[in-house]
Amino acid sequence: IDICATDLMVIEELGKGGYGIVEKMEHKQSGIIMAVKRIKSSINDQSQKQMLTELEACKRSDCCPQMVRFYGAMFREGDVWICMEVMDTSLDKFYKKIYRIGRRVPELFIAKMTLSVVEGLNFMKEQMHLIHRDVKPSNILLNRHGQVKICDFGISGHLTNSLAKTVQAGCKPYMPPERIDGETKSAYDVRADVWSLGITIVEIATGTHPYSTWKTPFEQLKQVVKEPPPKLPRDGFTLDCQYFVKRCLEKDYNERPKYPELLAMPFLEMARNDKSFIMAKFINDLLDAPSNAPQTSTKPPS
Ligand code: ADP
Ligand code: MG
Repeated sequence: IDICATDLMVIEELGKGGYGIVEKMEHKQSGIIMAVKRIKSSINDQSQKQMLTELEACKRSDCCPQMVRFYGAMFREGDVWICMEVMDTSLDKFYKKIYRIGRRVPELFIAKMTLSVVEGLNFMKEQMHLIHRDVKPSNILLNRHGQVKICDFGISGHLTNSLAKTVQAGCKPYMPPERIDGETKSAYDVRADVWSLGITIVEIATGTHPYSTWKTPFEQLKQVVKEPPPKLPRDGFTLDCQYFVKRCLEKDYNERPKYPELLAMPFLEMARNDKSFIMAKFINDLLDAPSNAPQTSTKPPS
């Protein structure tokens, strides 16, 4: 379909990110409901064109079930509008709800989610020669059918370099040591995304981002380079799971596996073979579970 910004009607807000807002909209002519991300863009015409070209390439990812469907992108009053499939939640909101209502994240959920993400990233690398560059819980989306899909492919690279982005308030570091530590910064390697995936797994498995004990983004980045890599606690996770994470979080990217090796690891094999854990049921149960009453401020109004 050909989408024109004036044909889109806002239904509700889906979320806000560092660069703009994502809204659920209806395309009046076709009745299609989509998620539209509006990015305030200060980038020049040249890189706008390049960004559109790359986004167009994303259309070809439609045959990949682990990618959020991409409907099209356009410029409107200097903003970039990116139209994509609506999903029911994102992994960041989802895992926070799991902890908020006092439950734990099952390892099989982590395993199946991870399998989808690795399959999606592997497809994009093999078929389209694309690296994501911004793997993190909010870019992993879930729906009530039990599908797990990656979004925001090919966007982050254009906006600003990721170091500046991470230093933005509220951003936790998902980037690997080699992206922070100078020298190798020019060549972006798939294994950067593998590190980010490892951080994502630790975050949802433990309920906190592994570098959140350090206060400022700058200090957090320093720890990524200086400290031993994060790992899963021994209790509560199988050795296969711990080993998978350990391999994703090799500080030296030469030691870090690429997707074919990850896909062959016992942790993902278990995810592929398991028939007991029903993703759709788990997601629906959680989305439908009442949230505990939010901790409202007890301060009296002044
Ligand atoms: P970030 O990924 O940095 O949080 P974004 O602007 O990409 O910022 O997204 C903001 C929020 O909007 C996400 O956290 C997610 O919850 C929601 N969101 C983004 N895309 C979709 C989508 N296709 N369907 C449903 N929700 C979405
Ligand atoms: Mg995003």
